[in-house]
Amino acid sequence: MSFGCPTRTNKRLEVELELMPKIYDISMTIEEGMQVWKNYEAKKPRIENVQNHDQGKPHESLLTMNVHTGTHVDAPLHMLAGGETIETISLERLVGPARVLDLTHAKECITKEDLELFAIQKGERILLKTSSSYSEEFLLDFVFLREDGARYLADIGVGLVATDALGIERAQAEYPTHRTLMRGDVIIVEGLRLKDVPAGNYTLVIAPLKMTGIDAAPARALLLGD
Ligand SMILES: [Zn+2]
Repeated sequence: MSFGCPTRTNKRLEVELELMPKIYDISMTIEEGMQVWKNYEAKKPRIENVQNHDQGKPHESLLTMNVHTGTHVDAPLHMLAGGETIETISLERLVGPARVLDLTHAKECITKEDLELFAIQKGERILLKTSSSYSEEFLLDFVFLREDGARYLADIGVGLVATDALGIERAQAEYPTHRTLMRGDVIIVEGLRLKDVPAGNYTLVIAPLKMTGIDAAPARALLLGD
């Protein structure tokens, strides 16, 4: 007679593992030598050991970093005076079906014309895979979403647009890409790593650090799929 807890058989575990979707970690690693916006020294994260075992104490580190470091979610306050702050973006907006678009051929920027080919629908979460995913250095001439592309996505009413560059735009006075998306209630995510992810449909999970009252939050980002 046995009173032990029921245990999972190896067979059942195997089946469960087979049913598990593939997990793509599409986040940047946060470390001191990582790429930062325009390579500015002030934007590099600092990680210092503040106590350790040699001192007979638990090992602890102090992290100092800009909230726009690596993979992160922008809140409207970043580009709109009086805009909403990061805690107003619900997890329901950040988790769910998503589509990775292959834009690795784009040279300077992503235009409305580039996006029209994909028959993008209202409410979609769109991830832009560009040449930035293939560089661990910050590309001063990174491929960005041009204003007309942002207007096109906002007019469709997509739910979220994410890019693998550290910024969704550059070289545009008055930040029209950010502002058009933010005014259109489109969530902006920046700094993804999509090199290993084929274009197609996935389940997206973006989990920003739970912060409040500020303009962005660093996030862990995953895609679940085949
Ligand atoms: Zn940002």
